[in-house]
Amino acid sequence: MKILLVEDEPKLNAFVKKGLEQNGYTVDSVANGSEALSLAASLAYDLIILDLMLPGQTGFEVIDNLKDFDIKTPVIIMSAINSADRVIKGLDKGAVDYIKKPFDFGEFLARIRAVTRRGTARSFTSYKLGDLQMDLLARKVIAKQKEISLTKREFSLLELLLSNCNRVVTKTEIAEKVWEVNFDMGSNVIEVHLSQLRKKLADENIIQTKIGIGYYIEGELIKG
Ligand code: CA
Repeated sequence: MKILLVEDEPKLNAFVKKGLEQNGYTVDSVANGSEALSLAASLAYDLIILDLMLPGQTGFEVIDNLKDFDIKTPVIIMSAINSADRVIKGLDKGAVDYIKKPFDFGEFLARIRAVTRRGTARSFTSYKLGDLQMDLLARKVIAKQKEISLTKREFSLLELLLSNCNRVVTKTEIAEKVWEVNFDMGSNVIEVHLSQLRKKLADENIIQTKIGIGYYIEGELIKG
């Protein structure tokens, strides 16, 4: 689970980051909206925790900008402003939860778990990218007009990369989501599976490598 934390108050930022990391989350933290946007646009996060009063752009503006960039990562607002109209505005803008500061850390963690559980339900059942088609329910993959057979791991790997199309998925995240292990397995295991997958897809270039970071698929993805 990878979280992007956006909080400009240094002490609170450090406290929340540390608390989340102690509970097994991987956390990138930034102190303003524009840094948050550039990270969210280039790396895949499972969740964004967003303060409202930020220098530069407000949290609400960040949410609008995420939408403009078509970034669908769930957002939890974390704010000291606790008037009902702010909460309503935040939720109406698409935030999945609104946590009022100061908060109990145990409750904060429970809310994150609740949101990410909801997030695990798939919202799409198929992907299409050029002549590659993936049917998530029938577990069928068609590449270059031919149905191909993938192992469970290859299927999960392709699904993970396609669902994060145009964003780099890190090796740690692949290890977590495809192998369900909480450590970096090193690139070798992943690289071997990727090279098998590239072969089966009959396209050596579809899955690209961002050296030292991870992998990505680029293109115009159609979700069904
Ligand atoms: Ca603030």
